[in-house]
Amino acid sequence: MPPTGDIKFVLDSIADIEMLAGLDGFEHVDTETVHTVIDEAGRFMADVVAPTNRVGDLIGATHHPDGTVTMPPEFHEAWQQYVDAGWNAVKCNPEYGGHGFPSAVGTAVQEMLTSSNMAFSLCPMLTASAILAIDAHGTDEQKDTFLANLISGHWTGTMVLTEPEAGSDVGALRARATPNDDGTWNITGTKIFITWGEHDMAENIIHLVLARAPEAPPGTKGISLFIVPKFLVNDDGSIGERNSVTTVSIEHKLGIHGSPTCVMSYEGAVGYLIGEVHRGMRYMFTMMNDARLHVGIEGLGIAERAYQQSLAYARERRQGRAIGAPKGESSLIIEHPDVRHMLLQMKTRIEAMRGLMYANAAALDVAEHHSDPDTRRSAANRAALLTPLSKGWGTDQGVLIASLGVQIHGGPGFIEETGAPQHYRDSRIAPIYEGTNGIQAIDLVMRKLPMDGGAVVAEFVADMQTTADASAELMPAAAMFLSQAIGAVKSAANWLVDRKDPNDALAGATPFLELLGSTAGGHYLMRLALAASETGREDAAARAQRAEFYAKDLLARVPGLVPSVTAGVASLEGLDNT
Ligand SMILES: Cc1cc2nc3c(=O)[nH]c(=O)nc-3n(C[C@H](O)[C@H](O)[C@H](O)COP(=O)(O)OP(=O)(O)OC[C@H]3O[C@@H](n4cnc5c(N)ncnc54)[C@H](O)[C@@H]3O)c2cc1C
Repeated sequence: MPPTGDIKFVLDSIADIEMLAGLDGFEHVDTETVHTVIDEAGRFMADVVAPTNRVGDLIGATHHPDGTVTMPPEFHEAWQQYVDAGWNAVKCNPEYGGHGFPSAVGTAVQEMLTSSNMAFSLCPMLTASAILAIDAHGTDEQKDTFLANLISGHWTGTMVLTEPEAGSDVGALRARATPNDDGTWNITGTKIFITWGEHDMAENIIHLVLARAPEAPPGTKGISLFIVPKFLVNDDGSIGERNSVTTVSIEHKLGIHGSPTCVMSYEGAVGYLIGEVHRGMRYMFTMMNDARLHVGIEGLGIAERAYQQSLAYARERRQGRAIGAPKGESSLIIEHPDVRHMLLQMKTRIEAMRGLMYANAAALDVAEHHSDPDTRRSAANRAALLTPLSKGWGTDQGVLIASLGVQIHGGPGFIEETGAPQHYRDSRIAPIYEGTNGIQAIDLVMRKLPMDGGAVVAEFVADMQTTADASAELMPAAAMFLSQAIGAVKSAANWLVDRKDPNDALAGATPFLELLGSTAGGHYLMRLALAASETGREDAAARAQRAEFYAKDLLARVPGLVPSVTAGVASLEGLDNT
């Protein structure tokens, strides 16, 4: 069962639902309604979606010689119920049938969906990205044609960027777009790794494809974005002719077997240009923060499920005798300090991730909906800074936590029947797609650190210091270790921005992402403990204890990362002499 109590508390205290409810466009939102949504979503995900997780892994998607891809019947039933209940529309535009909740609420619902079945969750996640792109940059006609059916979930969406020679370097893509006299375009090219590129759960699939128009300048400046439906749509909105889009094959993967990963061939397929020609990458960037946050949420969602399963196992499995336990009796493994340590590592990092990611989502809401332009701008900057942390640090933690889950199970953790290996396998993709974590680290160091002459990071550092100062009495160790970690952030960040040779900064990017991610996680975990104490919550003391644990377990290690950040490119020369 999703931890709805915890989710509501983080929404209230970190995302600040009351504040979000006061923003333009959220007049219908209030704390009570949001709590009801979260409770209902939690029940739905646990009852309807979670039972499909195993069948997705065992049977998954099947590609047939005629190019169709079929999904297990359990997925069809769950999808139908998901769509009928309106879960696809939580944060979407009310003009087209959406419920218009803040992104923070959509993020919480997405977390619960992901915990229930990560592979399944990718279908609505990519649909949401397609909706966002069309809503933000499409013409009225495009919005009228596609949005209502995407928002209702009758149709689904994809994001089609990757080609064999264009992965991290999207600018290298070669798919071609040629204009037709009637204003449409013909799209030709092969795309790989397209998530939910083909399936049989929805009437139509709307591909958002990046391609090059004639005379496009090289690199990312020459990329345009097109809507390419699997079936063309008639003027009356009904489904028309089949477009020239075929699914060549699907991949056999380490995890997320219930998500078809398709090789797609577009052979003169009819496409509709979004916005202006050559500006596709700009449009993609407006969705990037949202999409990257949601991949971060995958790290969180899978970690939560792995934790719950491990906790239940540790409360059932007896082995060895814990010191102090009655003679002749074997103890539950949860009584062994080492197992408790692993469980607490899982729990505290999950809480830290949730705080970080919901804060990130709320910053996106403020950036979009606040009436004051300066507040909007500073929230957009905060979201831009937090996004690589949510995606990069969050998905690395997801893998680590899923791995701890395997470890807690002992031998059965390596056996598929327990389900623990599936979490581990599923979690492993999140650090790779939507910009590898290496690319996230580079984004953090090369783009986010210098933003506004360093003011964006400085403001966040000041916020974290306020948390440390406020914690001195309730959590003295956490206050001290957070202050030390903040000192490490400052010295590492200063060193990085002072580099003359960018390769020196690039060499330290990944350890800096870990350094800042762990520190930011501590800040949010402590803010939650402070909020629990201020409001007299029952679990206030336990939250403070957990923050102290996190501080000694993880924050204390943060200053030790500085030498790795500041080692410079010369430290990598040893590789050439192997
Ligand atoms: C299951 C799955 C689902 C996917 N879904 C989609 C989808 O729906 N739509 C879509 O368009 N794509 C999708 N992808 C593609 C995914 O986004 C890419 O695989 C990813 O961006 C990495 O690209 P690549 O595989 O070419 O690796 P490469 O770019 O070749 O990277 C290899 C390694 O080199 C590093 N590297 C590359 N360039 C640099 C650099 N400039 N500086 C430092 N390090 C660098 C990377 O970090 C990585 O460690 C999916 C992939 C998978 C496996």
